[in-house]
Amino acid sequence: MIRPILPGATIGVLGSGQLGRMFAIAARRMGYRVATFSPDEDTPTGQVADLEIAADYHDLDQVRQFAQGVSAVTFEFENVPAATTAACAEFAPVRPAGEVLHTTQHRIREKTFLQAAGLPVANFRIVRTEADLEGFTGILKTAGFGYDGKGQVRVKNQQDALAAWDSIGRVEAVFEEFVDFECELSVVAARSLQGDFVHYGVVENRHANHILDLTIAPAAVPQQVADEAVEIACAVLDALDVVGVLCVEFFYTKGGKLLINELAPRPHNSGHFTFDANTTSQFEQQLRAVCGLPLGSTQQLAPAAMVNLLGDVWANGEPDWIAALADPQVKLHLYGKPEARKGRKMGHITVLGETAQDAAVKALAARARLLKAVPQ
Ligand code: AMP
Repeated sequence: MIRPILPGATIGVLGSGQLGRMFAIAARRMGYRVATFSPDEDTPTGQVADLEIAADYHDLDQVRQFAQGVSAVTFEFENVPAATTAACAEFAPVRPAGEVLHTTQHRIREKTFLQAAGLPVANFRIVRTEADLEGFTGILKTAGFGYDGKGQVRVKNQQDALAAWDSIGRVEAVFEEFVDFECELSVVAARSLQGDFVHYGVVENRHANHILDLTIAPAAVPQQVADEAVEIACAVLDALDVVGVLCVEFFYTKGGKLLINELAPRPHNSGHFTFDANTTSQFEQQLRAVCGLPLGSTQQLAPAAMVNLLGDVWANGEPDWIAALADPQVKLHLYGKPEARKGRKMGHITVLGETAQDAAVKALAARARLLKAVPQ
């Protein structure tokens, strides 16, 4: 039997953004120490971790030193090189395993894996040469390093395909059919060392400029659709042998079909509401899974909604925090990022309500109040 990693131990996090920050908050609450590794300093994770190491992911000497000082390694950032997780694995268990990251950080590997596992994805073409662009339209996406709509171009007419490929630098890509969806859904789930599976139900995600804007939990979809989404998520975590948290993002098509859009083998923006709304947040669940502890209850205590706060909220100067917090149901989360750039995720607001729709209305209203600040 693999021995659990008990409170007092240090957990290493590759990456240093808001996901690591919320993981560190959950871990410290349970008496663990946290070390974060990324190229940056004074990071969202580093500000609440016990130790912040600023080094390049390719600096394997530093990576090995980091791994020697921790009892387990997890990650909060998708684009950690495979060599980095392999170097960590020489000294500490990496959970989820580096292979999970390797599969999911590259659209061709991810889609090929899902197809081979018999799981539903939108029709796609692998693009490596000009000939691969022929006779297809949809969305052209770079195979690697894509997130929040980066490295994506919509191709409506076949004759625009070549220019689109040029615009993404003629790199390896996936050409995906355009999905006419009713809505976008996701399931955040966790799997333990022993293979136990828990999930946070099905939530609806609305995007603005390809970035998540609003999550409504639970989603207003028929029970049978929710059950199917959870079943698919369970199959994904099993097939990848995940130990940790993974989010499955779906398109729910106008024809009533569920198609997997993408996987994220870590806590996800669409699960942030669990910090305030559930017995065990997705971050505590990641900790429990990584440490080999029993998983916690995922019970949702009330319907909830989450809105993201991007740097855009600072457009008129300092947001009016007091106005947003005037509703006592509003929970404000800020990530400690010093510079509020347009499109940068700076924080989020969660609201619990009588219904998820009611929570969404209140969350959107709170965010709108933030913007009332006038230029000075
Ligand atoms: P991604 O980075 O692949 O998750 O894409 C970001 C967003 O772009 C998605 O959440 C959708 O709103 C939209 N999108 C991506 N792929 C497609 C597609 N094949 N059809 C329709 N919309 C898409």
